[in-house]
Amino acid sequence: METIRTNGPASNRFNLVFLSEGYTGREMPKYLVDATNALNAILSYQPYGEYSNYFNAFAIKTNSAEHGSDHPNQNIYVTTYFNSFYDSSETLITIDSTGQERVDELLQAFVPKCNLPVLLVNDTNYPGGSDGFDKTAIVAATYAPSLPGMLTHETGHVVANLGDEYEDAYPGFPDTEEPNTTRQTNRALIKWNAWISPSTPIPTAPRDSYPTAIGLFEGAHYHTTGWYRPKLDCLMRHNYVPFCEVCSEALVLAIYQRVRPVDSFSPASTNLTITNTQAVTFSLALLQPATHNLNVQWFTNGVSRTGATNLSFTLLPQSFANGTNSVSALVKDNTSLVRNDPTNFLSQTISWTLNVSLPQLRLDSPLWLTGGKFAFRVTGNAPQGVVVQSSTTLSNWGSVATNSLVGGQLWYTNPVASSSLRRFYRAVTPP
Ligand SMILES: [Zn+2]
Repeated sequence: METIRTNGPASNRFNLVFLSEGYTGREMPKYLVDATNALNAILSYQPYGEYSNYFNAFAIKTNSAEHGSDHPNQNIYVTTYFNSFYDSSETLITIDSTGQERVDELLQAFVPKCNLPVLLVNDTNYPGGSDGFDKTAIVAATYAPSLPGMLTHETGHVVANLGDEYEDAYPGFPDTEEPNTTRQTNRALIKWNAWISPSTPIPTAPRDSYPTAIGLFEGAHYHTTGWYRPKLDCLMRHNYVPFCEVCSEALVLAIYQRVRPVDSFSPASTNLTITNTQAVTFSLALLQPATHNLNVQWFTNGVSRTGATNLSFTLLPQSFANGTNSVSALVKDNTSLVRNDPTNFLSQTISWTLNVSLPQLRLDSPLWLTGGKFAFRVTGNAPQGVVVQSSTTLSNWGSVATNSLVGGQLWYTNPVASSSLRRFYRAVTPP
């Protein structure tokens, strides 16, 4: 296996894996070129391009004894690793269940977290394609202008279970709705209703008057009537056009279903015990879309902190009361590509539990100053402020200062040199 593109750990990336079919051992260099071109073709389509940093790509190299694929209608049969074959129209290329088992075995062995297998078939015929068992995008890798669209169309089936928006009949095809096909004509109940402007008629007719609108266009899922698609045209209907907004939304959701926006965070432990007043910094490492940033908001004890929207957040433990507290970060992709995210795939929250146990008050950092003066610091928790007291006997105490802690601390300086040989200081909270 070779790595073609790496953006991070396979555990949190969308892993695309190429498999070689009908390439002989000597043709492996060509396979790697074909795989790289195929990857670039897929990532040239939106929304894949916007999330290209989320992708890794690998190429598993399996030699076939012979070159190409079977063409039964031409009586051409070759011995290949996955035993792919064209249909009689020479536009559909697929594998049987034994071939799919071989795909599954290789993925299990090399990239168990594979999110998109792509079988590249080394055939010089028309670059037919299919989605073998809805699990593997299959395409003849021969360069042709139609190849990028055809391959990317097939990935739509595999990645987001998108349906064909075709109208030509396919007897026996299951009447199961996909994210981009429906029989529903009640506007309020249409699953892509968030994308439909109130001024767009439902069903949307005359079709050609709404070339760019999202609506309810009759003709989809291998039916000319009774089944509807979201847009006049889409890559799931015709080559050479982009994915429609509804298909694009389904693809973004599918990517986030497999890849989480937070790559890592610090501290790695989400259960912290804090016993001193040293500042604690929390930080996140996020995935980055190509042209927009993910949004971050930090919370303490469930309350959002104004302006705390960076990748890191620092706090002083003394700003908390002793006991159990929480810090959390909400990360969200506010992309305009998604309007419907009922499962919140585009959000992720990281929460830390802080068991704060600070001394109530503490005197530290004694400092000699000139002229017999000195200073020390009072730290801790004292919402009512503190009274600094002094004594020469440790039994009679007099108050010398009353003040509030700022940021959990207060510096006290004695006003004049004392005539006493020694003097004791303490800080108390007012009754
Ligand atoms: Zn579509």
